[in-house]
Amino acid sequence: MSLKGKTAVITGSNSGIGLGVAHELARAGANVVINSFTDNAEDHALAEAIGQEHGVTARYIQADMSKADQCRALIEKAGACDILVNNAGIQHVAPIDEFPIEKWDAIIAINLSSAFHTTAVALPMMRKAGWGRIVNIASAHGLTASPYKSAYIAAKHGVVGLSKTTALETAKENITCNAICPGYVLTPLVEAQIPDTAKKYGMTEEEAKQKVILERQPSKEFATVEQIGGTAVFLCSDAAAQITGTTISVDGGWTAL
Ligand code: NAD
Repeated sequence: MSLKGKTAVITGSNSGIGLGVAHELARAGANVVINSFTDNAEDHALAEAIGQEHGVTARYIQADMSKADQCRALIEKAGACDILVNNAGIQHVAPIDEFPIEKWDAIIAINLSSAFHTTAVALPMMRKAGWGRIVNIASAHGLTASPYKSAYIAAKHGVVGLSKTTALETAKENITCNAICPGYVLTPLVEAQIPDTAKKYGMTEEEAKQKVILERQPSKEFATVEQIGGTAVFLCSDAAAQITGTTISVDGGWTAL
């Protein structure tokens, strides 16, 4: 599958899954726009390294996905957006009655509303180009729930719903929209949860990974960022042209339980 000549914008892509998706799309020939809320020399160097490794144009554009105007400005600054990957996301774990209001607001803004804003600006560009692919990174938690993750689960279920609506509004326009639902992937977002989990259960960090974090993942293995990236490339391929408005789980069997 060659995505040569296509421009892909991946939100929240200086780390973890977003960075993995950017690499796989670039490996398939797409020019990529990397994004986060920071604006460091390392962010720009990261984009340069991806460009050199895969022989594509790679740019870093700073934009805070918690802010509607910056989400919209990201797509405008990109100038073209054939492939949009809404990936930026954060997590906070607490019971509902103790859940900080500002954390609820931030999670809904970054994990859900940002996808609405970027999609709204990208769609006219895709319509003009006569082709478009929107890949929303939801989660197994977009299909099922766990306690203490109310904002994240509400946002991810929202992303699945937004993906279906986007698909229906674009069904006749050579534009598709789908959600990838990963189970646990070993990224900084998950690594940050390991020391606390180990402490809470009086386990080593390795035991916490296997017995607590991967408890619901029947394969007992983490999915990799390359596998999520490969799934995104597939959704951009001709083979997936009639796949729209659905979810693809990459979760080692979690949602089959
Ligand atoms: P990560 O922490 O490694 O990456 C998150 C990315 O989002 C980073 O690049 C970060 O800079 C960016 N980001 C955070 N706040 C932002 C903001 N305000 N503006 C712009 N960018 C911002 O985490 P990850 O595990 O790679 O998560 C990526 C996505 O995958 C998230 O939407 C997450 O919910 C989803 N996901 C992750 C897992 C997993 O197990 N890691 C599982 C299912 C879904």
